[in-house]
Amino acid sequence: PPFPIKLFGPVIKGFGRGSKELGIPTANIPPEGLASHPELESGVYYGWVGLSLSPSPDTLSSSTAVYPSVLSIGYNPFYKNTVRSVEIHILHDFSHDFYGAALNLLVLGFIRPEYDYVSLDALVDDIKTDCDVAARSLRRPAYEKFEREPWLKDFD
Ligand code: ADP
Ligand code: MG
Repeated sequence: PPFPIKLFGPVIKGFGRGSKELGIPTANIPPEGLASHPELESGVYYGWVGLSLSPSPDTLSSSTAVYPSVLSIGYNPFYKNTVRSVEIHILHDFSHDFYGAALNLLVLGFIRPEYDYVSLDALVDDIKTDCDVAARSLRRPAYEKFEREPWLKDFD
């Protein structure tokens, strides 16, 4: 597919099935943007995320920042979902949830197709590997340069 691919939207509630409890929270954005990219097969991808965070009690001003991320696009066969979703795990430790934040996602590469897992442990194991692959790929100069793509911080 023609990377980079832009997806964006507000962070919405997901399926509430406990990704956070597994240590892998995923910020969900509305799947409508996928309609323009039918060539994006279901699977795991890596990319940069721009976040516009609303003012918090500590900062009193809004902030924008760019983070590496790993994301899944698809039906998530493990959970027998019926709607395609975009779920983004940002490779950063946040002290607060950021539901409602504006999110810009620049998808840069494909890691693997979706698998059906026999156990939750196997799933979590694979996601840890995905996080390593994403972090290392985004450090390559050809991908690292997209961290400075102005669109990532373009919120109106
Ligand atoms: P949901 O089912 O509502 O998506 P999750 O358990 O997947 O719930 O948690 C996702 C939420 O956790 C995000 O919407 C965001 O507000 C918060 N969050 C905190 N840290 C991260 C992170 N590193 N990556 C993604 N989301 C995070
Ligand atoms: Mg989620």
